[in-house]
Amino acid sequence: MKTLTVLGSTGSIGRQTLEVVRAFPEKLKVHALAACKSVDQMENQVRAFRPSFVVMMEEKAAKDLRECLRDLPVTVEYGMEGILQAVTYPQVDTVVTALSGRIGLEPTLAAIKAGKIIALANKETLVAAGELVLGTAREMACPILPIDSEHSAIFQCLEDNPQTIEKIILTASGGPFLGWSSEKLAAVTPQEALQHPNWAMGWKITIDSASMMNKGLEVIEAHHLFGLDYDKIEVLIHPESIVHSMVAYKDGSVLAQMGNPDMRLPIQYALSYPSRWENSFQRLDLRGKRLSFLEPDLTEFPALALAYKAGRIGGTLPAVMNAANEVAVQAFLQNRLVYHRLTELVAAVCDSHDVLLHPDLGTILEADAWARERAEELIQSTKFKYKIPKINSICNPKCRLEP
Ligand code: MG
Repeated sequence: MKTLTVLGSTGSIGRQTLEVVRAFPEKLKVHALAACKSVDQMENQVRAFRPSFVVMMEEKAAKDLRECLRDLPVTVEYGMEGILQAVTYPQVDTVVTALSGRIGLEPTLAAIKAGKIIALANKETLVAAGELVLGTAREMACPILPIDSEHSAIFQCLEDNPQTIEKIILTASGGPFLGWSSEKLAAVTPQEALQHPNWAMGWKITIDSASMMNKGLEVIEAHHLFGLDYDKIEVLIHPESIVHSMVAYKDGSVLAQMGNPDMRLPIQYALSYPSRWENSFQRLDLRGKRLSFLEPDLTEFPALALAYKAGRIGGTLPAVMNAANEVAVQAFLQNRLVYHRLTELVAAVCDSHDVLLHPDLGTILEADAWARERAEELIQSTKFKYKIPKINSICNPKCRLEP
């Protein structure tokens, strides 16, 4: 029996993690849950999974939840202190980190220091502080098992000897705007960007997928998780999202992991590892399916090129890029920044940052806070001032995959 703490339990990955727990009641149980502010959802989860400890990020949400759960023997806490407590309980062996954004960094580090197995869905943590997190994990001999579907695929295809790897190939769906002209992209609304063609996910990752910043973050995540140079990490567009990623070996063999685009599969693998558990999820049926692969267009998706650059320079720069991107995505969803300037804004913040190499936690948090402030300043400056996008812009007739 594995005992879990699930951080971000009311988000998309958190809910699907609990579906996996529900499917394997004899193998998995929940000790603690943590979320931001969804009191109703958390109440339902507590009644269904009976954790002993629950944390809400917001104090008011914790107070309301405590009131709703008066009939149950459960402790409700709030804030980062509560979250740090939730990941260090002695009876917990695995922490699922499904918080969205850099906020997941401190709890992940605390869980590693407490010797927990990390089932990692929070890629921003590795982007912001990969060197520090992986270094601490090595010291503690603490396994980090990826939940991100691409990294789970690589993890499943990897052989023991890293010397035999030529490169890894991360696949990307290309998001909802693959093949759109720049005129059309200029008028993209948050509603359009939130429609992902294959995966049902949270809002942050869906916008990141549309801009391909998500793939950029995943390149940096892969660099840290698998200890590979950026020259050995390639990205291929694969609009069908069936091949979740591949490892190319020096003898010319390429191993790929395939499956339906269903996040419960990589979640389950991270929880069942090193075993595989039989489940009743829908099976992949390849009959009549066509799989296609294209080179990503870095002019169309400049975020991917920016992430490679930030990753190669390293130090505090990936943390700065990630923080600026979190602010930019939020501003776009609040109609304070137009879609086609998202990456431009993130690049401008990166350009004005003085990089520090091999940062400790304090330096990373400072760089993160600086980048958030700088991004806000730029959003309010005349250069990035929000103008209502033109709706009847001209569509490029060559668009192949326009929804
Ligand atoms: Mg992914």
